[in-house]
Amino acid sequence: MSFKIKHLTAALCIVASTIGIAQQTETQPKNIILLIGDGMGLSEISAAQFYGEKTSNFEKFNTIGLIKTSSAHHLVTDSAAGATAFACGIKSFNGAIGVDVDKKPARNIIDYVSNQGMATGLISTSSIVHATPASFFAHVDSRRKYPEIATYLPTSEIDFFAGGGLKFFERREDGKDLIASFKEKGFEVTTDKLPLSTTTKKQAMLLADDAMPKISEDRGDFLPNATSLALDHLSKNKNGFFLMVEGSQIDWGGHANDADYLVSELLDFDKTIGVALAYAKKHKNTLVIVTADHETGGFTLAADGTNYNKIKMSFSTGGHSATMIPVFAKGPGAEKFAGIYENTEIFTKMVSSLNKKKK
Ligand code: MG
Ligand code: ZN
Repeated sequence: MSFKIKHLTAALCIVASTIGIAQQTETQPKNIILLIGDGMGLSEISAAQFYGEKTSNFEKFNTIGLIKTSSAHHLVTDSAAGATAFACGIKSFNGAIGVDVDKKPARNIIDYVSNQGMATGLISTSSIVHATPASFFAHVDSRRKYPEIATYLPTSEIDFFAGGGLKFFERREDGKDLIASFKEKGFEVTTDKLPLSTTTKKQAMLLADDAMPKISEDRGDFLPNATSLALDHLSKNKNGFFLMVEGSQIDWGGHANDADYLVSELLDFDKTIGVALAYAKKHKNTLVIVTADHETGGFTLAADGTNYNKIKMSFSTGGHSATMIPVFAKGPGAEKFAGIYENTEIFTKMVSSLNKKKK
């Protein structure tokens, strides 16, 4: 009898440890989609609840965390230091694009994942050389050096990108033709409108001279559609992919203290989260992370005086604020993103989730 129990126990232990291993591999994502709503704090996110037509996609996440966003030298970060924290896992100075406090290039997540054979993509509603996307491919000591930032993109490991910024590649003071450089590096370049389908080549989409238009100026579904196109393109890679999607202009609505601008951009970003979640629902090995670099505008959903049934959207600054920023995660490895931590941990957590990946 005791002999039998012993054997049964041993057998159960083997079963248990096998399940343990299986669970461990399932918590390793094959694909990561990082969605950044520039300037999107909790009040901005809450606006989706009051001004969106449908239930907000933010409500589909079960794992939620908070990040502290101060940069190396400032309590209040800018988007360059904020994106460098996500892209490279380091606290740097405001204005830094992929460089450390000594202005030395820092290794970014794009280099890290492409080294593992993964495909990579970037999408923004700003120009692609603007601070947030730039921190994922360039190493420059000032976010304002757009022409210099642009030179990094053709030789980067990016396989697919879409956004504005054509003039920084096409009509340059130094006479360099970076559109030709893209073609030499095997990109198909599109400068008019978003294609309906993807190609087997790398894809460069520069669809505006500088920033993409505002939603209110007929940008339409560029952001959700480009995201969907990127997912089609990148998912052809059997080693998985990393895709960063930025709702760039939520921040600009905040800077302008223009609540309608802010909310329209926020709702467009919310819709784009829906595209990422729909993909992840079909492809269970996909980790979706939604966060922001900082809050902009000191935005509040205040009661209109004593009328507690009316919200008067208001602002306390034309700049950024230092409030903690929500992080939403869903998919394998999502549980790592719960808790309160520094913005650099977004990078660390993404890398560590891929680290255990069996090759
Ligand atoms: Mg940005
Ligand atoms: Zn800003």
